[in-house]
Amino acid sequence: MSTIIYPSPIFGPVHSRRLGISLGINLMPADGKICTFNCIYCECGLNEDYRPSLPRPTRELVAEQLEAKLQAMAAEGQLPDVLTFAGNGEPTCHPHFAEIIDDTIALRDQYCPKAKVSVLSNATMIHRQAVHEALMRVDNNIQKLDTVDPLYINKVDQPVIPYDVNRIIDSLKAFKGHVIIQTMFMRGEKERRREGEKEKLRADERSSGISVDNTSEQYVAPWLEAVKEIKPQQVMIYTIDRETPTQGLLKATHDQLDQIRDRVIAAGIPCTASY
Ligand code: SF4
Repeated sequence: MSTIIYPSPIFGPVHSRRLGISLGINLMPADGKICTFNCIYCECGLNEDYRPSLPRPTRELVAEQLEAKLQAMAAEGQLPDVLTFAGNGEPTCHPHFAEIIDDTIALRDQYCPKAKVSVLSNATMIHRQAVHEALMRVDNNIQKLDTVDPLYINKVDQPVIPYDVNRIIDSLKAFKGHVIIQTMFMRGEKERRREGEKEKLRADERSSGISVDNTSEQYVAPWLEAVKEIKPQQVMIYTIDRETPTQGLLKATHDQLDQIRDRVIAAGIPCTASY
């Protein structure tokens, strides 16, 4: 299994399938992962396998290292297209997320005013006023909504805090269109890993493998209704791209992604698919 724990607080630049040349900002410790989800497809691995011992970077360290990196990139004549908050976990969990966004916007304006500021988030903290307001100030507010089915969320995203999908949808609506929805579609079955997991499954899954397929109508139709309610500026659908910490997961097919993308576009919402 190959997973990635990113340097902190700055990494890259890297080429992102969805965002272009991207300089990464990682608000998590450099030696592990902290996330309010524990997605079975997470490229950083499962939370329990990568518990950090170092603290999160401070607001001051993030600003200092971001400025140094932008100065070095400017000297080389290669500035980023996007400054992306991502890395080893959920960026909005950082206690100074809002202030760090302000610092980053100020540095972007000074060194690379054409670059966009993007945040990749799992939406679990967007009910917090300061987080909501900070996300309203970034260019690309990219929020995860893999499904609206609570059972699927429990077995695939595996929230480690209470998660109410209807509350999340209400908070996504509160962005009033200043939001991009990102959704992972995949197929396959996952291994059972935890004691007690059986109780959360449907009866037909207790004896066979645990299906993680969210490409069928049972999942796509209600997800699409929620997307229409949220009225995002864009939807990004994608599938597994790298090795995953959980065995048995399969990519959604080109055709499946294209069909879902076309349904979103038919609803009047721009949508891209990454294969
Ligand atoms: S939300 Fe992102 S960082 Fe967190 S577990 Fe899922 S894929 Fe990993």
